[in-house]
Amino acid sequence: MQLTHYPTASLKPRREESLLGGHAWIFSGALQQPPHWIEAGGLVDVKSATGQFVARGYYNSQTDIAIRILTHDPSEIIDAAFLRSRIRRAIELRRVFDPAHTNAYRLIHSDGDGLPGLVVDRYADILVAQVQTAGMDRLRPLLIEPLMQETGAQGLLWRNDSQARRREGLQPEEPAIAAGDVPHEVTIRENDVQFHVDLWQGQETGFFLDQRDKRASLRKYAVGKRVLNCFSYTGGFSVYAALASPETRTTSVDVSAPAIEAARQNFTLNALSSDNHEFHIAEVFEHLETARDSEERFDVVVLDPPAFAKSQGARNQALKAYRRLNTLGMQVLRPGGILLTCSCTGVVGMDDLTGVLSLSAQHLKRSVQVLETYTHGVDHPINLAMPETAYLKAIFCRVL
Ligand code: SAH
Repeated sequence: MQLTHYPTASLKPRREESLLGGHAWIFSGALQQPPHWIEAGGLVDVKSATGQFVARGYYNSQTDIAIRILTHDPSEIIDAAFLRSRIRRAIELRRVFDPAHTNAYRLIHSDGDGLPGLVVDRYADILVAQVQTAGMDRLRPLLIEPLMQETGAQGLLWRNDSQARRREGLQPEEPAIAAGDVPHEVTIRENDVQFHVDLWQGQETGFFLDQRDKRASLRKYAVGKRVLNCFSYTGGFSVYAALASPETRTTSVDVSAPAIEAARQNFTLNALSSDNHEFHIAEVFEHLETARDSEERFDVVVLDPPAFAKSQGARNQALKAYRRLNTLGMQVLRPGGILLTCSCTGVVGMDDLTGVLSLSAQHLKRSVQVLETYTHGVDHPINLAMPETAYLKAIFCRVL
């Protein structure tokens, strides 16, 4: 028997369709009367205009997404056992990784794993978590035990220092240990390549795990080649490329000095001499212009910029920036060279990115052969009913 009762939020007529299809966001405009009396992050039952149970989730009056769904099953109450079962389901998927080769992956991918607002990355024996919403913040005390027990991790670190928390009415916090022991840095293995990860001060949770499959794919194009890695961060793509053959030469460019220093250390960690490779602390657009004007050319160019827009309103500006970046990238690419272009901007879709490539190529009177397209990889599952959660798009192409 169900003894727990949650307050009700009622939908306007016929607004339940996408939710019944598995979507997990309700915008405030879909509600008859937003339940303002519920504190930020409080649990609610969502009912149709005719009073039928539709889903259960958490509410925040301050955000565009008023309710995020946790379950469509009326018998499921939101407690430690619920969270444990979702965590177990997520762990089950990650068994595809053999820790002898890859011991770092996203363990919990928010809506993709049925735990909206929660990201947990595993770095060897350490878990690093981000709590992004008020609703998940309220569930935070219930997460620690199941996360530690189900994974057997040695420590759990909260990385709730993102300014994005303010959108939910939450304060950014200093990184803090939630459980166990957390060293300053860990060494991870990804497809047998090693990386140092700065858990406390690295960007996001420390490493961009969503590029693992693209990094692996890059290797085959990098044999004996000259590779330019733009927005290199700690050298992920560069190290994979450099390991492809002793003749490969890489150039890593990032505006962050600590990231470039970490990139050098990651070369050393993989027994690569950093003498044969270049590292530049520089703004990528400027660096590319200089390279273009001095007629420096590469066989392979990687463009993996940060998100250029956070909202629909900034979409056009973002498209212009992608257009400029990809044009510059093609200009420093020799005819027949390989371009890997990426976008992690949620409001820029795969069609937008191919559109950018096509306009850049037309402008330069070059043609593009698309070779491989990617999203984030198995540890960042996409809820089929929520295409907007597929934020990363990546295209390998040959530019003739
Ligand atoms: N490709 C990386 C991840 C890139 S994240 C990997 O595989 O790990 C984006 C990076 O872009 C960050 O390291 C950030 O410091 C850098 N960055 C952001 N804006 C930049 C700019 N205008 N010029 C150079 N680097 C920039």
